Amino acid sequence: RAGSVDRSTQGSTANLNADEDNINVVVRVRPVNDKERSLRERHMLEFPGKGQIICHGTTPGQKPKLFSYNVVFEPAATQEDVLEYSGIKRLLEMAVEGFSCTAFCYGQTGSGKTHTLTGPPGLVESGASPYSEDHGLVVRSFVYLFQLLQDRPDCHYILKASFLEIYNEKVIDLLNPGNSRKPLQVRWSKESRSFYVENLFMVDCEQLDDLFAVLEEGTRNRAVGAHAMNAHSSRSHTVLSVRVRGLVREQRGVACATHGKINFVDLAGSEVTKRTNSTGKTLEEANNINRSLMVLGYCIAQLSDGRKKGHIPYRDSKLTKLLADSLAGNGVTLMIACIAPTKSNLSETINTLRYAARAKKIKSKPVVKMDARDALILSLKREVEALQAENHHL
Ligand code: ADP
Ligand code: MG
Repeated sequence: RAGSVDRSTQGSTANLNADEDNINVVVRVRPVNDKERSLRERHMLEFPGKGQIICHGTTPGQKPKLFSYNVVFEPAATQEDVLEYSGIKRLLEMAVEGFSCTAFCYGQTGSGKTHTLTGPPGLVESGASPYSEDHGLVVRSFVYLFQLLQDRPDCHYILKASFLEIYNEKVIDLLNPGNSRKPLQVRWSKESRSFYVENLFMVDCEQLDDLFAVLEEGTRNRAVGAHAMNAHSSRSHTVLSVRVRGLVREQRGVACATHGKINFVDLAGSEVTKRTNSTGKTLEEANNINRSLMVLGYCIAQLSDGRKKGHIPYRDSKLTKLLADSLAGNGVTLMIACIAPTKSNLSETINTLRYAARAKKIKSKPVVKMDARDALILSLKREVEALQAENHHL
């Protein structure tokens, strides 16, 4: 499948000493759909290679715009290509090492966010085999994660998964249908110095099938909510988290503990913040549409502006509270910007490409500057803190 992925700037191995950014930004372009084809819509994008996208103007005088990212997935790229070349493998390896990592899909409704994470509609709920080739990044990551753990027979790992939805700043547990429309509280834990969701259902996952069941159950429950409310899925975020705790035996028989995490985030359609963006109003106004998405944009803008180390407003939304530890540099973040190739989507496509280009400028690298021993000490400290926090909340 030559030409479907620009492979010039890939990096997928975990190297704690490597000089790598703590945010990796890739773009995935979905294929033209039937409707666009029947309308013979113009294709607006060109892929010159090296992670670049040229976006053509709609009028003859308009100059084309050039954007540059870590990797660009062209319409012919497969789900497997995204696993191999997005850098997600590095995030999973780091989660096993004890870091907090997040992969999120950003883009307008219909641009392929859910497809990239979980495949075509209904696939996960149909109970398809974990090895089906239509599966998206989440199932592929689960498979890779279990491979990683099997490669470390000296270590013992405990996996726990949760799956939640944020709609209108309310946190809903997708794994607890009895509780499904009762919002949960996001609280700050002094002990672990991070935010957590109170009473969130955490499922022990000993096998690949357990993780798969979590995804299936949550996806089903999300669909039920979406049916009840018009445009629900384009306005809500879902966060599927897998906590990876490791007990690592060292040569002298000392057991060290690590405490890692990987979040998969399917964001609300980026078009929902358009009104507030275009009028340049304050964060307060984001309440009316989608505060979490708006604040995430502010956090990314602040993080990417290396010169002014100002206040980063993680606390201003539920989503950014929950993602703060990985965004702030205790881990690595992968942003997958999803776009459509055709003319009717052009203004949203340009918005997404700009947002993604801004994210790529984030230059803080606290994680990768650490040596492996420091990283282990940090993990140990977090493990102790997390255990204390857990005891505290029992
Ligand atoms: P979003 O979650 O961003 O609103 P979806 O993932 O639901 O968008 O994509 C909209 C439609 O386009 C779905 O039917 C999906 O299966 C299809 N689609 C999106 N991306 C691709 C792709 N890369 N290859 C094939 N079909 C795709
Ligand atoms: Mg979707």
